[in-house]
Amino acid sequence: MLIIMLGAPGAGKGTVSAILTREFGIPQISTGDILRGEVKKGSDLGKKADEYMKTGKLVPDDIIMGCVEARLAIDDCKGGAILDGFPRTIPQADALKALLTKMGLKLDAVVNLEAPEELLIRRLTSRRTCANPSCQAIYNIYTRPPKNEGVCDICGSPVLQRDDETEEVIKNRLKIYRDTTLPLLDYYGREPVFFSLSCIDAGETVDEIKKKMKKG
Ligand code: ADP
Ligand code: ZN
Repeated sequence: MLIIMLGAPGAGKGTVSAILTREFGIPQISTGDILRGEVKKGSDLGKKADEYMKTGKLVPDDIIMGCVEARLAIDDCKGGAILDGFPRTIPQADALKALLTKMGLKLDAVVNLEAPEELLIRRLTSRRTCANPSCQAIYNIYTRPPKNEGVCDICGSPVLQRDDETEEVIKNRLKIYRDTTLPLLDYYGREPVFFSLSCIDAGETVDEIKKKMKKG
Protein backbone atom coordinates (compact mmCIF):
# COMPACT_ATOMS: atom_id res chain seq x y z
CA MET A 1 0.00 0.00 0.00
CA LEU A 2 1.33 3.41 -0.88
CA ILE A 3 -0.17 6.72 0.21
CA ILE A 4 1.12 10.16 -0.78
CA MET A 5 0.25 13.10 1.45
CA LEU A 6 0.27 16.46 -0.35
CA GLY A 7 -0.44 19.89 1.08
CA ALA A 8 1.20 23.15 2.08
CA PRO A 9 3.50 23.35 5.09
CA GLY A 10 1.23 23.34 8.15
CA ALA A 11 -1.70 21.65 6.40
CA GLY A 12 -1.50 18.68 8.79
CA LYS A 13 0.36 16.09 6.68
CA GLY A 14 2.60 14.96 9.54
CA THR A 15 -0.22 14.57 12.06
CA VAL A 16 -2.50 12.69 9.67
CA SER A 17 0.39 10.49 8.47
CA ALA A 18 1.27 9.52 12.05
CA ILE A 19 -2.29 8.26 12.63
CA LEU A 20 -2.40 6.42 9.28
CA THR A 21 0.87 4.67 10.16
CA ARG A 22 -0.68 3.20 13.29
CA GLU A 23 -3.89 2.22 11.49
CA PHE A 24 -2.31 0.57 8.46
CA GLY A 25 0.91 -0.73 10.05
CA ILE A 26 3.17 0.76 7.37
CA PRO A 27 5.90 3.34 8.08
CA GLN A 28 5.61 7.09 7.65
CA ILE A 29 8.41 8.46 5.53
CA SER A 30 8.92 12.17 6.08
CA THR A 31 11.72 13.61 3.96
CA GLY A 32 11.77 16.63 6.31
CA ASP A 33 12.40 14.34 9.32
CA ILE A 34 15.07 12.36 7.47
CA LEU A 35 16.87 15.60 6.51
CA ARG A 36 16.63 17.05 10.03
CA GLY A 37 18.09 13.78 11.35
CA GLU A 38 21.05 14.17 8.98
CA VAL A 39 21.52 17.82 10.02
CA LYS A 40 21.59 16.78 13.70
CA LYS A 41 24.12 14.02 12.95
CA GLY A 42 26.30 16.56 11.12
CA SER A 43 26.71 14.23 8.12
CA ASP A 44 27.91 15.62 4.76
CA LEU A 45 24.41 15.23 3.41
CA GLY A 46 23.03 17.06 6.46
CA LYS A 47 25.47 19.95 6.06
CA LYS A 48 24.48 20.36 2.43
CA ALA A 49 20.75 20.11 3.13
CA ASP A 50 20.93 22.59 6.00
CA GLU A 51 22.04 25.37 3.64
CA TYR A 52 18.71 25.10 1.85
CA MET A 53 16.48 24.29 4.81
CA LYS A 54 17.53 27.28 6.94
CA THR A 55 15.97 29.70 4.48
CA GLY A 56 13.03 27.51 3.53
CA LYS A 57 14.35 26.55 0.08
CA LEU A 58 13.78 23.08 -1.35
CA VAL A 59 16.65 20.64 -1.07
CA PRO A 60 17.81 19.54 -4.59
CA ASP A 61 15.95 16.59 -6.12
CA ASP A 62 18.99 14.29 -6.37
CA ILE A 63 19.65 14.52 -2.63
CA ILE A 64 15.98 13.86 -1.87
CA MET A 65 15.78 10.86 -4.21
CA GLY A 66 18.88 9.36 -2.59
CA CYS A 67 17.21 9.63 0.84
CA VAL A 68 13.90 8.21 -0.34
CA GLU A 69 15.42 5.30 -2.27
CA ALA A 70 17.55 4.32 0.71
CA ARG A 71 14.58 4.55 3.07
CA LEU A 72 12.21 2.56 0.84
CA ALA A 73 14.86 -0.16 0.50
CA ILE A 74 14.64 -0.94 4.23
CA ASP A 75 12.64 -4.09 5.05
CA ASP A 76 9.81 -2.37 6.92
CA CYS A 77 8.68 -0.81 3.61
CA LYS A 78 7.94 -4.16 1.95
CA GLY A 79 4.23 -3.62 2.55
CA GLY A 80 4.41 0.02 1.47
CA ALA A 81 4.62 3.40 3.16
CA ILE A 82 2.99 6.74 3.79
CA LEU A 83 4.95 9.50 2.07
CA ASP A 84 4.75 12.75 4.02
CA GLY A 85 6.29 15.80 2.36
CA PHE A 86 7.45 13.91 -0.71
CA PRO A 87 7.19 14.34 -3.70
CA ARG A 88 7.44 18.13 -3.70
CA THR A 89 8.44 18.73 -7.35
CA ILE A 90 7.45 17.25 -10.72
CA PRO A 91 10.90 15.63 -11.21
CA GLN A 92 10.52 13.96 -7.78
CA ALA A 93 7.08 12.67 -8.81
CA ASP A 94 8.51 11.25 -12.06
CA ALA A 95 11.36 9.59 -10.18
CA LEU A 96 8.91 8.14 -7.65
CA LYS A 97 6.78 6.65 -10.43
CA ALA A 98 9.81 4.77 -11.78
CA LEU A 99 10.80 3.65 -8.29
CA LEU A 100 7.34 2.27 -7.50
CA THR A 101 7.27 0.31 -10.73
CA LYS A 102 10.67 -1.14 -9.84
CA MET A 103 9.44 -2.08 -6.34
CA GLY A 104 6.13 -3.48 -7.56
CA LEU A 105 4.10 -1.07 -5.43
CA LYS A 106 1.02 0.77 -6.61
CA LEU A 107 -0.49 4.05 -5.46
CA ASP A 108 -3.51 3.50 -3.21
CA ALA A 109 -4.20 7.13 -2.41
CA VAL A 110 -2.93 10.63 -3.11
CA VAL A 111 -4.40 12.86 -0.45
CA ASN A 112 -4.23 16.64 -0.75
CA LEU A 113 -4.83 18.50 2.51
CA GLU A 114 -6.22 21.99 1.98
CA ALA A 115 -6.11 24.94 4.36
CA PRO A 116 -6.39 28.73 4.03
CA GLU A 117 -3.06 30.57 4.17
CA GLU A 118 -3.81 32.53 7.41
CA LEU A 119 -4.44 29.23 9.16
CA LEU A 120 -1.17 27.77 7.84
CA ILE A 121 0.81 30.76 9.12
CA ARG A 122 -0.89 30.65 12.53
CA ARG A 123 -0.29 26.91 12.86
CA LEU A 124 3.35 27.04 11.81
CA THR A 125 4.36 29.95 14.04
CA SER A 126 2.70 28.29 17.06
CA ARG A 127 4.23 24.88 16.41
CA ARG A 128 6.96 23.51 18.67
CA THR A 129 8.89 20.29 18.03
CA CYS A 130 10.73 17.90 20.34
CA ALA A 131 14.47 18.40 19.72
CA ASN A 132 15.21 14.67 20.09
CA PRO A 133 15.67 13.40 16.50
CA SER A 134 14.27 9.97 17.30
CA CYS A 135 11.13 11.48 18.89
CA GLN A 136 10.22 14.73 17.09
CA ALA A 137 6.82 14.93 18.83
CA ILE A 138 4.86 17.97 17.67
CA TYR A 139 3.20 20.43 20.06
CA ASN A 140 1.28 23.68 19.67
CA ILE A 141 1.59 26.52 22.17
CA TYR A 142 -2.18 27.18 21.99
CA THR A 143 -3.90 23.89 21.28
CA ARG A 144 -1.48 21.20 22.45
CA PRO A 145 1.17 22.52 24.82
CA PRO A 146 3.43 19.99 26.58
CA LYS A 147 2.43 19.32 30.23
CA ASN A 148 5.60 21.07 31.44
CA GLU A 149 6.49 24.13 29.38
CA GLY A 150 9.35 23.46 26.97
CA VAL A 151 9.73 19.77 27.92
CA CYS A 152 8.59 16.82 25.77
CA ASP A 153 5.83 14.69 27.38
CA ILE A 154 7.14 11.58 25.68
CA CYS A 155 10.92 11.70 26.08
CA GLY A 156 11.74 14.69 28.32
CA SER A 157 13.91 16.47 25.72
CA PRO A 158 13.58 20.22 25.10
CA VAL A 159 10.65 21.32 22.94
CA LEU A 160 11.75 24.09 20.55
CA GLN A 161 10.65 26.26 17.64
CA ARG A 162 12.26 25.04 14.42
CA ASP A 163 14.67 27.48 12.72
CA ASP A 164 12.48 27.35 9.63
CA GLU A 165 9.28 28.21 11.52
CA THR A 166 9.84 31.91 11.97
CA GLU A 167 7.29 34.08 10.13
CA GLU A 168 9.74 35.28 7.46
CA VAL A 169 10.95 31.80 6.55
CA ILE A 170 7.39 30.46 6.63
CA LYS A 171 6.25 33.06 4.06
CA ASN A 172 9.13 31.98 1.83
CA ARG A 173 8.21 28.29 2.24
CA LEU A 174 4.59 29.05 1.29
CA LYS A 175 5.71 30.91 -1.83
CA ILE A 176 7.94 27.99 -2.87
CA TYR A 177 5.04 25.64 -2.18
CA ARG A 178 2.77 27.63 -4.52
CA ASP A 179 5.38 27.89 -7.28
CA THR A 180 6.89 24.41 -7.19
CA THR A 181 4.66 21.92 -5.36
CA LEU A 182 1.16 23.12 -6.30
CA PRO A 183 1.62 21.86 -9.91
CA LEU A 184 1.57 18.33 -8.44
CA LEU A 185 -2.20 18.71 -7.96
CA ASP A 186 -2.56 18.72 -11.75
CA TYR A 187 -0.02 15.91 -12.05
CA TYR A 188 -1.96 13.61 -9.71
CA GLY A 189 -5.42 15.14 -10.21
CA ARG A 190 -6.27 12.79 -13.07
CA GLU A 191 -5.53 9.66 -11.03
CA PRO A 192 -8.66 7.95 -9.67
CA VAL A 193 -6.96 7.61 -6.25
CA PHE A 194 -6.56 11.40 -5.88
CA PHE A 195 -8.74 13.40 -3.49
CA SER A 196 -8.67 16.70 -1.59
CA LEU A 197 -9.78 17.18 2.01
CA SER A 198 -9.48 19.89 4.61
CA CYS A 199 -7.88 19.03 7.92
CA ILE A 200 -9.33 20.76 10.94
CA ASP A 201 -9.36 17.64 13.09
CA ALA A 202 -6.76 15.02 12.11
CA GLY A 203 -8.83 12.09 13.47
CA GLU A 204 -11.84 13.06 11.34
CA THR A 205 -9.63 13.53 8.30
CA VAL A 206 -8.25 10.00 8.76
CA ASP A 207 -11.80 8.58 8.93
CA GLU A 208 -12.64 10.34 5.67
CA ILE A 209 -9.48 9.05 4.00
CA LYS A 210 -10.36 5.47 4.97
CA LYS A 211 -13.92 5.89 3.67
CA LYS A 212 -12.70 7.25 0.33
CA MET A 213 -10.11 4.48 0.01
CA LYS A 214 -12.79 1.81 0.47
CA LYS A 215 -14.90 3.36 -2.27
CA GLY A 216 -12.00 3.66 -4.69
P1 ADP B 1 6.83 21.20 6.00
O1 ADP B 1 6.05 20.08 5.35
O2 ADP B 1 6.18 21.70 7.22
O3 ADP B 1 7.28 22.24 5.03
P2 ADP B 1 9.11 19.43 6.21
O4 ADP B 1 9.57 18.97 7.52
O5 ADP B 1 8.41 18.49 5.31
O6 ADP B 1 8.20 20.68 6.53
O7 ADP B 1 10.33 20.05 5.38
C1 ADP B 1 11.27 20.94 5.94
C2 ADP B 1 12.29 21.37 4.89
O8 ADP B 1 13.00 20.22 4.40
C3 ADP B 1 11.69 22.01 3.64
O9 ADP B 1 11.46 23.38 3.81
C4 ADP B 1 12.78 21.70 2.60
O10 ADP B 1 13.88 22.57 2.74
C5 ADP B 1 13.24 20.32 3.01
N1 ADP B 1 12.48 19.24 2.32
C6 ADP B 1 11.69 18.29 2.90
N2 ADP B 1 11.15 17.46 1.99
C7 ADP B 1 11.60 17.88 0.78
C8 ADP B 1 11.40 17.44 -0.57
N3 ADP B 1 10.61 16.39 -0.86
N4 ADP B 1 12.03 18.13 -1.56
C9 ADP B 1 12.84 19.17 -1.30
N5 ADP B 1 13.06 19.65 -0.05
C10 ADP B 1 12.47 19.01 0.98
ZN1 ZN C 1 10.33 13.90 22.60
